[in-house]
Amino acid sequence: MIPHSRPTIDERDVTAVSNTLRTGNIAQGRVVEKFEHALADYIGLKGGVATSSGTAALHLALLALGITKNDVVAIPGYVCTAVLNAVNYVGATPLLIDIDPDTFNLDVTDLRRKQNPHVKAVVVPHLFGLTANIEEITKLGIPVIEDCAQSIGATYKKKPAGSFGTISIFSFYATKMMTTGEGGMVASNAAALLRNARDLRDYDNQDDYRVRYNYKMTDFQAALGLAQLKHLPRFIKIRREIANKYHRELKDLCALPVNYGEEWGHIYYRYVIKLSHGLKRFLKLSKDKGINCERPVFKPLHKYLSLSNAPNTDRVWEQAASIPIYPTLTEKNTDSIIRCVKQAIEALR
Ligand SMILES: *Cc1c(COP(=O)(O)O)cnc(C)c1O
Repeated sequence: MIPHSRPTIDERDVTAVSNTLRTGNIAQGRVVEKFEHALADYIGLKGGVATSSGTAALHLALLALGITKNDVVAIPGYVCTAVLNAVNYVGATPLLIDIDPDTFNLDVTDLRRKQNPHVKAVVVPHLFGLTANIEEITKLGIPVIEDCAQSIGATYKKKPAGSFGTISIFSFYATKMMTTGEGGMVASNAAALLRNARDLRDYDNQDDYRVRYNYKMTDFQAALGLAQLKHLPRFIKIRREIANKYHRELKDLCALPVNYGEEWGHIYYRYVIKLSHGLKRFLKLSKDKGINCERPVFKPLHKYLSLSNAPNTDRVWEQAASIPIYPTLTEKNTDSIIRCVKQAIEALR
């Protein structure tokens, strides 16, 4: 069985983690600090605050922006529930926005239509490794949380994803672009936001009392993060090579991921095709043949909330299939993935 996703871990990663374990300093410490600097430098931001997960990073980002229960936070409906959870953690009201069916990202026109004075932040995921129309979104004057959980290394007009928003978040879950097992980061140019997020992350040794969290990353996770960050350019290169091969082989059979070229530097966290019909059957057929294809978003948020005003999200959910793409796939693996996907699509005719 070829799994849908897998982390890429080599001996250098293992050595980095074991070296840190041997120092005896394994909780949050100097290695975490080093990882924060390295990541912020990579994106071109002033600083970062490492966290225990991407969800924790989202929560801290909302808290740092001062979002509370009287506020509304705009989020796309086509994304995992982590985003909705974070909005609910701070007691704010989510405002679901439809997506652009070509890019799978938040539809700026729909956001503009639904914008109102209560909307105090918008979470903008760059889904599947392709950047959202971030320039247009930042023009609306709403504080922007860039969700780069799937898009570290992606670019918009040659500038890194994560460098446009008021504050940005990252996830280093096992199967993201790079990993620390579980982990995340808040990053920003705004010193006050970083200070606030840092303060809320850690409950111990504080002069005053307020509700704080334990959202810390460990030093051995950060050691893995530093090693993975060095691999990231190679990871991206391999993903793009695989994507090119998929493009060549599948272009006449189904709708491929849009690729706006160099301007929107797609890093192919996911390779998502669209089928005009028969998605469930396709997923079953490919599984039977030993290739684990998945819906790239398990269930859209408005379906969980029983809302029904996101036609593009609905259509995409009925059509989109994610095909395995990650750096450890061999030439032989990608050959059999292509063969199996072709056969499954043929069988739908
Ligand atoms: C994975 C993911 C998250 C949550 O990150 P965790 O580290 O799993 O908590 C948030 N947003 C998006 C877009 C994600 O893909």
